[in-house]
Amino acid sequence: VLIPAQYLVDRLRGPKSRADQVRELRRRLLAQADARRASPDERALASQLRRLREALAKAFRDVEACSGCARGYPLPHGRWQGGHCCGGRTEYVFTDEELGALRLSGTTPERFVPPRSDHAGCAFRGPTGCSLDVGDRPNICVRYVCRELHAELDTRGRLSEITDLESALRETFRRFVAARAERLENEMLRELAETLA
Ligand code: SF4
Repeated sequence: VLIPAQYLVDRLRGPKSRADQVRELRRRLLAQADARRASPDERALASQLRRLREALAKAFRDVEACSGCARGYPLPHGRWQGGHCCGGRTEYVFTDEELGALRLSGTTPERFVPPRSDHAGCAFRGPTGCSLDVGDRPNICVRYVCRELHAELDTRGRLSEITDLESALRETFRRFVAARAERLENEMLRELAETLA
């Protein structure tokens, strides 16, 4: 009942293309393993990922490159002045692995609230940036540093702080993906054994 009600709200507030994408994302989030099904490693790594996303977002405080990088680009990227890297397709950043990590670290379908604006790129991109709390964003969104941002961080002397956190986030996500794949394989083997028994 929850997802159709949220869909209705999204449809009343914005374009159908966005509402459709967010509905699909909520459905895919709920299809991911919950805490009972996931392994202890997956649960611990997912929590660690959320903490790292929050720390990295703090380290990116008051950067300026992200607010003007899309100026002059064709649609959808150039719809607003900033957020060029958010101009791609929603499903490209919300992979099953990312959704798996989000679900285990507390993201719920209700937290996927899109902005009230045109739909230009990712469903959560709006005129003032991303509408999601940083803990509810995919890891790739938080750790991605384009050339322009890299240059700004370098000038401000903050590159090494960011690089350390970015590496930790990348490595932790790699370990999460491996733990998830291992659990999925075990589940598949168990099912196969039950079928053959
Ligand atoms: S989730 Fe947010 S940060 Fe990630 S691509 Fe979409 S708008 Fe950008």
